[in-house]
Amino acid sequence: MNEVLLSARSLTKRFGGLAAVNEVSVDLWRDRIHAVIGPNGAGKSTLTNLLSGDLPPTSGSVSLGGQDVTGWSPEKISRQGLGRSYQKTNIFLPFSVWDNVRLASQSREPHAASWLKRAISFEAINARAERAIKLAGLESRKNRLAGTISHGEQRQLEIAMTLATEPQVLLLDEPLAGMGVAEAERMVELLLQLKKEHAMLLVEHDMDAVFTLADQLTVMVNGQVIASGTPAAVRADATVQAAYLGEESDEGH
Ligand code: ADP
Ligand code: MG
Repeated sequence: MNEVLLSARSLTKRFGGLAAVNEVSVDLWRDRIHAVIGPNGAGKSTLTNLLSGDLPPTSGSVSLGGQDVTGWSPEKISRQGLGRSYQKTNIFLPFSVWDNVRLASQSREPHAASWLKRAISFEAINARAERAIKLAGLESRKNRLAGTISHGEQRQLEIAMTLATEPQVLLLDEPLAGMGVAEAERMVELLLQLKKEHAMLLVEHDMDAVFTLADQLTVMVNGQVIASGTPAAVRADATVQAAYLGEESDEGH
């Protein structure tokens, strides 16, 4: 089933005179990972923010599950089935892993009108949090304070918080940032698992991970898409070699 769950058309975001994202179109399919790569300042995080509703686009449109969600609030877009993690961490360090995930799960609940609804949704909130913690591989860390688990586990926690809203579409901004080799391998395994049930946009600098995970690959430079297609086609693209991948290998990455 190759179903497009999210489709963005000609998205542009200007900050004053700077077009941080310039006429970018992107599709996310169920069961596929669409990776977005590019040097710092290329506009990858801004693109993510446009898709999640954290920033309104200057022009262009986003549809999610067949619904035009352009200009919707992040909360409304989240309820429509989109979950995202942030490049900068979003977790409450003094709270337990469980409390962090439970709060994220709660954010998805519409405000209940009666004590009965509250009682029912309490069960639902906890069930979603349990499931998310399990999926993210954090069961054994459930009662630890978020500030005391490893950096890799904190990134897993962010994924768990994202999963707690039961999204169909996942936007992950550099989930492997700052990870050691073993931690990165575990995260790649987790993302491969999550791919089975989600459409995923993955912004990532780790090229080994990108080429292991991506079904689709888009390269951005200065706000623009310079190449998009299968990872093999993009890797072979001379423009990409010159602008980005070639530069990376010259630096010995
Ligand atoms: P990337 O994630 O690819 O490193 P960003 O999307 O963070 O790139 O940034 C793209 C460009 O937009 C950069 O030049 C950055 O300085 C600029 N930018 C990002 N956010 C803002 C903002 N809120 N206001 C002004 N400029 C911004
Ligand atoms: Mg970024």
